[in-house]
Amino acid sequence: MEWCRELPKIELHAHLNGSVRDSTLLELAKVLGEKGVIVFADVAHVIMKNGRSLPECFMLFDLFHILTTDHQTVTRITKEVIEDFAAENVVYLELRTTPKKNEAKGMTKRSYMEAVIDGIKAVDSVDVAFVTSDTSKLMTCSGSIPVNGTGSPIKRKKIYVRLLLSIDRRETTAAAMETVNLAMDLKDFGVVGIDLSGNPVIGEWETFLPALKHAKELGLPITLHCAEVPNKKEIQAMLDIHPQRIGHACFLEDEEWRKAKFLKIPVEICLTSNIRTERLSSLHNHHFADLYKAKHPLSLCTDDSGLFSTTLSNEYYLAASTFGLNKSEIFVLARSAIQYAFVDDEVKEELTKVFDDAEKRLI
Ligand code: 5GP
Repeated sequence: MEWCRELPKIELHAHLNGSVRDSTLLELAKVLGEKGVIVFADVAHVIMKNGRSLPECFMLFDLFHILTTDHQTVTRITKEVIEDFAAENVVYLELRTTPKKNEAKGMTKRSYMEAVIDGIKAVDSVDVAFVTSDTSKLMTCSGSIPVNGTGSPIKRKKIYVRLLLSIDRRETTAAAMETVNLAMDLKDFGVVGIDLSGNPVIGEWETFLPALKHAKELGLPITLHCAEVPNKKEIQAMLDIHPQRIGHACFLEDEEWRKAKFLKIPVEICLTSNIRTERLSSLHNHHFADLYKAKHPLSLCTDDSGLFSTTLSNEYYLAASTFGLNKSEIFVLARSAIQYAFVDDEVKEELTKVFDDAEKRLI
């Protein structure tokens, strides 16, 4: 496990509000409990519960949103989530979040995203490489440079952070369009694509399609939560728009796999999430094994590291121990995810160098 922590890693599927620390959620719940907004004891029990069905997870997200939806808290959780990923040696984090409106808090989708961007800028325990509008170039923001006992600078961890804006399946076409246009406006602030997520049994494909097509026309890459539940018609429609990536892909049938493989659509694999939400009965039946054998593009991801009490290091460890991969194979798998990131070639080259350096130490 320690080796998996040392390994540099690329995270392509992490939801901001699903990656919040339990300790932060409990602290926020306590404050709202004292204000009488919620009953703390009930909420604490739900936050600490392990193993939830998919519907229970979506109920929990509604609770998380009550706890986290004000600008200051959004900034705080973004900062903490980035620090937590960096602590696991994640060197590139594509963090996704649903821009939210909350009139009571004076929050618009744009101001929500500004709070997220403030959270990225607030990280001071590691160096964060992201894009700013001033330069349209990669900028590293870091706090004061720490020194060791001899006065020499201590080498700090560095993490590249990019953002995906999520369309929630509960949203209207107009709201989904607003998210796509916002993503376009925030391209100079590290937004690199669009995600479709939210409760898979809610919403109609036709509702999101205009916004997804609009994103394609604007040149914004798309990743779709696909086949989390059996829904042949929607799965086929999803593959037909040729998304740049798909997430989960638990219920594809042979015909759809043939298409996904033919199109070489990279799959974001979330092992712990798929088991915890009972989408699959056992890891030994997981489609990872078949895709890995077929050399299909894939990347291991956490999905909701807070909600499922996992880390990306743990996901690599799970893959290694379940599917019998050795260190070299795991290293190659981790490095291969660079190709599927929605980021420019310059950053991909930097990330490749990070892996080249690590290879000398780890293999
Ligand atoms: P947020 O977008 O609020 O930062 O992150 C939480 C949201 O991500 C949830 O409300 C939900 O819409 C989405 N999400 C998180 N995990 C999953 C998942 O496993 N499947 C789907 N479809 N959506 C998810």
